[in-house]
Amino acid sequence: MALTGIQIMKMLPKKNCGECQVPTCLAFAMKVAAGQTEIGLCPYVSEEVKAQVSEASAPPIRTISFGGGFKMGGETCLYRHERRFENPTGIAVLVRTDMSDDAIGGRLARFNSLRYERVGLILKADLIAVQDAGQGEAAFTSLVKRVRDNCPDAGIIVMSMDIAAVSAGAKVCGDYKPLLYAATLSNAEAMAGLAKELGCPLAVKGETLGEAASIVEKLQAGGLKDMVIDSGARTLRASLEDQIAMRRAAIKHKYKPVGFPSIVPVCEMANDLMLESLIATSMIAKYAGIIILSDLQGDTLFPLLLERLNIFTDPQRPMVVQEDVYPINGPQSESPVIITCNFSLTYFIVSGEVEGSKVPSWLLIKDTEGLSVLTAWAAGKFGADSISGFVKKSGITDKVKHRNLIIPGYLASIKGELEEELSDWKIMVGPREASHLPSYLRDWRPN
Ligand code: SF4
Repeated sequence: MALTGIQIMKMLPKKNCGECQVPTCLAFAMKVAAGQTEIGLCPYVSEEVKAQVSEASAPPIRTISFGGGFKMGGETCLYRHERRFENPTGIAVLVRTDMSDDAIGGRLARFNSLRYERVGLILKADLIAVQDAGQGEAAFTSLVKRVRDNCPDAGIIVMSMDIAAVSAGAKVCGDYKPLLYAATLSNAEAMAGLAKELGCPLAVKGETLGEAASIVEKLQAGGLKDMVIDSGARTLRASLEDQIAMRRAAIKHKYKPVGFPSIVPVCEMANDLMLESLIATSMIAKYAGIIILSDLQGDTLFPLLLERLNIFTDPQRPMVVQEDVYPINGPQSESPVIITCNFSLTYFIVSGEVEGSKVPSWLLIKDTEGLSVLTAWAAGKFGADSISGFVKKSGITDKVKHRNLIIPGYLASIKGELEEELSDWKIMVGPREASHLPSYLRDWRPN
C-alpha cells in the first residue's frame, strides 16, 4: 500500500535543511509520495526507512530494464491524464534463423536507418527479437552475434523454447543483458534458474492470461523478480482484453502476479505489415510493454512512433527547449534577431521556417516554462519586463551591431512597453504565423 506524504513525513529527521533540494521535510515527503523524487535524496534517512518507503512506493507494474538501458513498466495509472505513462512501449522487429541472409540484413539495416528527428528527439525502434526456428544452437548464436555486432543500440530478445539455445544466445550478449523468452508451463523452473544465473529478465508465456499469472506466481515464490508477461492471446480482441485486464488487476486490485509489463508478438497476429501496424496502434494505446513486428517500413513505423510519442509525453509537463541564443544559417553581426518562447513545438516550427528561408538569423529562445506565446504572455512569463531582462543577459548585444528585435505578431500590443524597457532597441512586429517568416525575413532590413 502506498504511503501518504504525512506517513513519510513521520519517518524523516525533520531538519528542514534543504539538502534534498526541497526547502522543507514536509514538501519533500509530499514529493516522495507523489513519485516526483526519491527518498534516497535525503542523506539523513536510515537504510531501513529507505527500504520501507521504496517498497511501499514501488509502482504496481514492475519496472524492468535490459539491453543497455531499455526500460519498460513502472506504470502507476490506468489513464494517461491521471498522472502520466512512464516508459514508452518498446518496438521490436523479428529476425529468425530460417530467414535468408538478405532478408535478415534488410531488417537489420532498416532498424539502423529508420530514425526520425522530431521536437528534438530521435524516434526509432528499440529492440530486435531473435527467434530460434529450429536450425540448431550454432545458427541461433551466430544470428544473435550478428544482431549484436550490427545493431549496437538494439535491446535483444532471445527467443527459443530450447533452454540450451537461450543460454548460449544470452551468453553471446555478455554484459548487454537480453530479455529471455519464454518460460512456459513445461520449462518454467529451468528457465527461471537460467534467468537468475544470467541476471536477465524472463518473459513468461501462458496459453491464457490465467495460466501466465499462475506461472508468474510460482516463479515469484521462488524468488524471481524481473518478469514480462505474454498472455498467449493472438487476436486483436483477446489481446486487448488481456492488456486491459492485466493493467486493471495490477493497479486497481494490487494483484501482484500480473504486476509486470507485457510483451505482445503482433507479428503472430496478422499476415501483412499494414494489419500488424493497425493492431500495434491499439497495443501501444492499451498498454503493451513491448510489441514485436515482423518488419520495419517507414510508412508503418513512423505513425507508430508518433502515436507512442504523443501517448507517453507527460501531459502535465510541456516539452521545452533550453533558453538560449540559437544561430541559424550562419548569422553575422548584421543578421536579424527574432525572439520566441521555449515551447518545443513553437521552437521547431519557427526554427524550421527560419532555416527554410535561408536567411542567416539569430533566434532568441526565452524560458516560458513550455507555454506558447499567447499563453505565456497571459501568464506573465512573456511580457515586456521578462523579455527585456532576458535580452539584456542573453549576450546578443555582443553578437550583433544593430539593435532591432523581431517579436511575434501576437505580441504587437507590448511593442511600446518593450521599447521603454529596451530603450536602445527598436522593436519590430513580426508575422503572426511562422509560415510567413521566410518572406518577412527576406525583406527585412535593419533600422
Ligand atoms: S534533506 Fe532530509 S532533513 Fe533535510 S529537508 Fe530534506 S528531507 Fe528534511
